[in-house]
Amino acid sequence: MRGSDDTILLVGGGAAAFSFVSTYRDAGGTRPVVLVSDDDRLPYFRPAVSKEYLVGATDRADMSLEDPAWYRSHDVDVMLGCSVTALDLAARLAVTSQEPIRWERCVVATGSAARTLPVPGGDDARNLTVRSAADVERLHAQLAGMSGPVVVIGSGFVGCEVASGLAEQGVEVTIVSDEDRPHEGRLGAPVGELITGWLRDAGVQLVLGASVGAVRHHAGSVVVDVTGRPSVDAAHVIMAVGARPRTELLASVGLLEDDAVPVDGVMATAVDGLDAIGDIAAAWNERAGRRLRVEHWGDAQGHGRTLGDRVAGGRAPWADVPGFWSTIAGQTLKYVAWGDGHGAIEVERSSAGTTVWYGRDGVVVGVLTHGHDEDNERAAAAVGGRWPFPP
Ligand SMILES: Cc1cc2nc3c(=O)[nH]c(=O)nc-3n(C[C@H](O)[C@H](O)[C@H](O)COP(=O)(O)OP(=O)(O)OC[C@H]3O[C@@H](n4cnc5c(N)ncnc54)[C@H](O)[C@@H]3O)c2cc1C
Repeated sequence: MRGSDDTILLVGGGAAAFSFVSTYRDAGGTRPVVLVSDDDRLPYFRPAVSKEYLVGATDRADMSLEDPAWYRSHDVDVMLGCSVTALDLAARLAVTSQEPIRWERCVVATGSAARTLPVPGGDDARNLTVRSAADVERLHAQLAGMSGPVVVIGSGFVGCEVASGLAEQGVEVTIVSDEDRPHEGRLGAPVGELITGWLRDAGVQLVLGASVGAVRHHAGSVVVDVTGRPSVDAAHVIMAVGARPRTELLASVGLLEDDAVPVDGVMATAVDGLDAIGDIAAAWNERAGRRLRVEHWGDAQGHGRTLGDRVAGGRAPWADVPGFWSTIAGQTLKYVAWGDGHGAIEVERSSAGTTVWYGRDGVVVGVLTHGHDEDNERAAAAVGGRWPFPP
């Protein structure tokens, strides 16, 4: 049995968990912390997985947020390769794949997992995904055995980053996606056009507006059936059809709404002593005046900071305007937005780049930039300050 009736149990080893524990210690928090992660390595910079790590521009050590000595010096008891399988809230006990853990406060930061596709072969174990460093190592090992071609199913940010990164490495890559242009539905046609151009220039083949009917693996090859179109043959298939929050632990305690965990502005769930942060949380944002659910590195850190500060005695709520970035074929997009929809868009183009302003109910609700860093720098003020739209 690990832990004690004073222990903070931290379930997860990602951005949110690391940010929580580092903030808590920096703010003077002294209670014992046990960090449990089912990953086999210490918290690392996940955005690099589909970017620098994929193309060999960074290594495992460089991606680590801190080295093992940091956890020792900050008195964090780390259990890697260990899965928390159940939480007994009444007994304040966690069941794990190693030993049970007693806790007084439990912080759940279990992040997301790759989705599968509900078609024949959509959940075949031979389909690759790109969510973790280990996933990329598996992909590299397969490519070392047989160099390609690769078909990427899905044109979300991870799919586009991976496809362009592999193409950069000389791998023949095809994206198959049901979107007419990547991100057109969520971010608008101008952004879809930009990304489509970058992918084409990088040499990625695009099969767009296409629905996958089945994924059929054979010895040494895979065939992706596309409804009403010719099938796509490849050596490897990567599923990049989005992420689902890993909310299983809290589903059994009846805490989920729309498959997310509702929390207040300081990351508390409805259960005393139980907090949720990062991708799984639908967190109250003080500036937005409503709950937001986002899957961004910086916001997972923001949740962790908010909670670490609170558990150490602070009360400042989460009030950041959410934002993320993506790098596709060497081009970086930055997006700052509440992320829960827009009504209209206004596009500004110059030789230096593009800015897309998103509006709803007469105010700015999002700003996407490529180049135009001066617009990115005022984006949080524009969204958070409800600048009139169009700006
Ligand atoms: C490939 C990729 C690229 C990305 N690129 C960007 C980007 O460029 N910009 C951006 O803003 N965002 C990006 N994101 C999103 C960003 O990384 C996530 O929003 C962020 O990592 C979420 O942090 P988290 O701590 O909530 O969860 P995660 O980082 O997913 O960490 C969850 C942790 O919990 C552990 N865990 C889960 N369940 C259990 C359990 N039951 N027991 C024990 N441990 C468990 C996992 O092993 C993991 O360590 C990217 C995501 C991916 C996958």
